[in-house]
Amino acid sequence: MSLYNWHLFTSLVCVSCTLKYEYVHVILWADAAAYRYGELLTSYAAKLVKKQLQHHMLTDELLPVGTSQDFQVQSHEGLLTVSASACECLFRKATGLPCRHMFAARHILGLDLYDEGLCLQRWLLQICSATQRLVSAPSSSSIQ
Ligand SMILES: [Zn+2]
Repeated sequence: MSLYNWHLFTSLVCVSCTLKYEYVHVILWADAAAYRYGELLTSYAAKLVKKQLQHHMLTDELLPVGTSQDFQVQSHEGLLTVSASACECLFRKATGLPCRHMFAARHILGLDLYDEGLCLQRWLLQICSATQRLVSAPSSSSIQ
């Protein structure tokens, strides 16, 4: 191997290691956010958010809109406008939970992927346990 090829090889290894480190860092970052959403949300909502977190790196390229912190992304739903706290996609509209586009925008802007304010209150465990009874307590007359 010539000196030039050796230098090229070592440079590629360095780039590969850097990319792996960045990928691992992003995965750990998303896992930490998924854990925190798991503590916050009902199990159903947490599963949906975890899937969105897993796919945020696969989201098509977000293009900045002017000098704002908004982005546009071309999806199968058409051209969507996305920000760190809002998105026009069907998942966001239907669930009121943070979507992969919002996570991608937050990633680009260097914001924490976890934000309680992104979730509708109806999905919060604390709200559900205070307002819904999944199992009725036995009445005193039925206990003998
Ligand atoms: Zn979206």
